[in-house]
Amino acid sequence: MNILIFGPPGSGKSTHSRRIVDRYGLSYISSGDIIRAEIARGTALGNELGRFLARGDLIPDTVVNTLVISRLRRARQNFIIDGYPRTAEQVLTLENYLYDHGIVLDLAMEIFISKEESIERIAGRRICPRCGAVYHVKYSPPKVPGKCDVCGAELIQREDDRRDVVERRYDLYISNMAPIIKFYKRHGLYVRIDGHGSIEEVWERIRPLLDYIRARETSPRRPPEPL
Ligand SMILES: [Zn+2]
Repeated sequence: MNILIFGPPGSGKSTHSRRIVDRYGLSYISSGDIIRAEIARGTALGNELGRFLARGDLIPDTVVNTLVISRLRRARQNFIIDGYPRTAEQVLTLENYLYDHGIVLDLAMEIFISKEESIERIAGRRICPRCGAVYHVKYSPPKVPGKCDVCGAELIQREDDRRDVVERRYDLYISNMAPIIKFYKRHGLYVRIDGHGSIEEVWERIRPLLDYIRARETSPRRPPEPL
């Protein structure tokens, strides 16, 4: 089973990707993780990637393509790709790679939430600058407002989590993904999962679909039997 997963900020796609990886034994290929790992390794490429991010620039397609495709070569089959492809150029590279290697995508799944929901989920996040504990003003508030339960430090909001930043990231996601969604719709692979509600509720919208794909690929073809 080979799938793509994407969704706007706060959609819960990483949480669900982890569940999918656990249940179906897929390789998790996250462009964000791959880029962060390269930076952490301190290679020449990693340093250059770090400079792109520090300037707030987009990483060139050729670099992202090379990193993701080399990871994909190692995984071969049974993967879930998170955060890729994000541009027409990346779609083309991925499609060519899959075609050349006889690999078939089963699904391009978007976990969708509204802009209001995205803002509420992310702008409500508070983190502890000392121990890294994460809270949410509505969903998992600290016992004492503004103070870390673990170490007592004053909680802060990450710059990236500010309302206006989230709003911009959301709009950017929608406009960047529109042509890509259109492409996968045309190929009959696009499925939009309603990402509103609890993690369990959303998971129960995803699981039956993937169970079906898994059953179809593992059940042997049999000749028809009488009823
Ligand atoms: Zn703390």
